[in-house]
Amino acid sequence: MSISGIKGFNDILPGDVEKWHFIETVARQVFQCNGFSEIRLPILEKTELFSRSIGDTTDIVEKEMYSFTDKGENRVTMRPEGTASVIRAFIEHKLYALDSVNKLYYMGPMFRYERPQKGRYRQFHQIGAEVLGVSDPKIDAQLLTMVKSFFDELGITEPKLEINSLGCSKCRPAYREVLKDFLREKLPLLCEDCNRRFETNPLRALDCKIPGCKEATANAPAMVEHLCLECEEHFTAVQGYLQVAGTSYSINSKMVRGLDYYTRTTFELVTGLLGAQSAVAAGGRYDGLVSELGGPELPGIGFAMGVERVALLLSEREFKRSCDLFIVTHGEKAQEKAFALMCQLQTKGVSVELDYESKSLKSQMRRADKLSARFTLIIGEEELEKGKGQLKSMANGEQQEVILDVEAIKSLLA
Ligand code: ATP
Ligand code: MG
Repeated sequence: MSISGIKGFNDILPGDVEKWHFIETVARQVFQCNGFSEIRLPILEKTELFSRSIGDTTDIVEKEMYSFTDKGENRVTMRPEGTASVIRAFIEHKLYALDSVNKLYYMGPMFRYERPQKGRYRQFHQIGAEVLGVSDPKIDAQLLTMVKSFFDELGITEPKLEINSLGCSKCRPAYREVLKDFLREKLPLLCEDCNRRFETNPLRALDCKIPGCKEATANAPAMVEHLCLECEEHFTAVQGYLQVAGTSYSINSKMVRGLDYYTRTTFELVTGLLGAQSAVAAGGRYDGLVSELGGPELPGIGFAMGVERVALLLSEREFKRSCDLFIVTHGEKAQEKAFALMCQLQTKGVSVELDYESKSLKSQMRRADKLSARFTLIIGEEELEKGKGQLKSMANGEQQEVILDVEAIKSLLA
C-alpha cells in the first residue's frame, strides 16, 4: 500500500513551483529596494518563546501550535509565525548594537493545527518583514506602501489595505473597560469563545466571524475613538504619509488581529476572492515586544503574508517552464554530437533538452513542443559530416543553417 502525505501538508509540484519562484523573486526585489536584508531562522523554537510573545489567550497558542517534548525533555514548538523568532535572534545576536535600525525579512514554512480548507493549511508559508528601532510613523507608511507595491509588481491589484490603531499600554486598558461595559449586557448574544475571552481578551469579540457576534458588536465603541494624544498623533501621521506616498487605504476600526503583542498601527490586506480566508497579508506595530522578550526598549513593526493565498490570487496566470533549445537528432553519431553540444551549452547558461532514447523525428519534435523549446536544432547524419545543423525558431518557424559550434549556436539563440 502506498503512503500518502499528511492532511494539511502540501507538496508544491513543478508547474506550480514556478509561481512560487516568481513570488519570492518579486518579494526579494521589492524588499531589497526598501533596505531589508534576509534572515534565515530555525523551524523549531522553545515553546515559551511563542506563549510569551503571541500570548496565552490567542488562537495560535490556545489551540494551533505543534508542540512536543523532544528526547531531551525540552518543550519545543514548530514555529507558527516568524516575528517571535526574528526578535529572539535580534536580541540573541545583539543586532541592535550593530545598527540603530534593523530591517529584516524572512520566508519559509509555518505550522498551525487548523482545519484545512482552501487557503488554510497546517504547513503553510509566509514571507514577512520586520523593522526594529524606528517608532516614526514614516516607517509604518513605508512598510504598508512596500506591501502594496509587492502586490502591484505581481500584477495583483485586488487586495485592499485596511488599517487600524490598537493604541498603547497607556490608552488601551481604559478602552478595554469601556468595551467591556458595552459587551457585558450583550454576553448572552455572544458566542462561547467570546464569552470565555470576555475577561482575558475582550477585544477579540470585535473581529469574531460568528454572525451573532458581528451583529451584537456592530455599534461597539472603537479603539480609534479612545486613543491617547500620542497614539492619535501617530495614527494621523501614518495616514498623512500614506497619502503622500499615494497608497490607498481604508480604516477598519473592528480589526483586532489575533496576537497580543500589537500596539498602535495594525493592518491587513484583504480580498474577497478567497472565501473566508480573506487576509492575504497582515501585521502591525509591536512596540513592547523586544523588551518583553528580554531585549532593549526598542519599537518594532512588521507583517507577514501567506504565500499559498498569494499564489491562489495568481492562479489564472500561466507559469510554464520553457527551455532555450531542444536538439533533434537522426542517427547514433548525431546523438553523440548532440549530447556533447548539450553539455557544453548548459555550462554556458543555455537551457538545453534532448530525447535520451532514440525516437522518431516526429516524436522528438512533439517533445520539443511539450517543453516549450524556443529553438530546435536538427542534426542529421549527412549534415553532421559537414559540421552543420538546422536551427529553427519555434516562434516564427524560420530556419537557418548553423555551424555546430557552441559559440555560434549560442549567439543565434538570443
Ligand atoms: P486568519 O485570520 O486567516 O486565520 P491570521 O490572522 O491567523 O489569519 P496571521 O497570523 O496574521 O494570520 O498570518 C499572516 C498571514 O499568513 C495571513 O494573512 C494568511 O495569509 C497567512 N496564514 C495564516 N494562517 C494560515 C494558514 N493556516 N494557512 C495558510 N495561510 C495562512
Ligand atoms: Mg488564524
